[in-house]
Amino acid sequence: MPASPAPTTADELRGAGLRVTAARVALLEAVRQGGHLGVEAIASKVRERVGHISLQAVYEALHALTAAGLVRRIEPAGHPARFEGRVGDNHHHIVCRSCGAVADVDCAVGDAPCLTASDDRGFSIDEAEVVYWGTCPDCSTGRSS
Ligand SMILES: [Zn+2]
Ligand SMILES: [Zn+2]
Repeated sequence: MPASPAPTTADELRGAGLRVTAARVALLEAVRQGGHLGVEAIASKVRERVGHISLQAVYEALHALTAAGLVRRIEPAGHPARFEGRVGDNHHHIVCRSCGAVADVDCAVGDAPCLTASDDRGFSIDEAEVVYWGTCPDCSTGRSS
């Protein structure tokens, strides 16, 4: 057995300089388990564990965790924001135009910005926002049958 146990979710919150609350622990674990959940889905998972929490409190906690770098927020155009626990890499997302399903796509280059601008116009560019749009397997199947 290793001498020091793996850090708990509470340790990670503390390490990021955040106050540890049961709701924040439940929220971070829900986001990490959930893939790309919206605020409502996250709120209902948090409520299963800690009882009532207002949607406003969930928004505020998500904002704090996103600012601390523990959670990544994605907001595909025309869709509500989603949150995920996969942070610290430059992965992209593919979004289904039909049902809004979101999947991860590894960055082909690895580091941002992964597209080279033909002309940077004197700007120092640090990110290219890449979203792939298409039709998910479920929706493709539904359409053809
Ligand atoms: Zn779909
Ligand atoms: Zn993702």
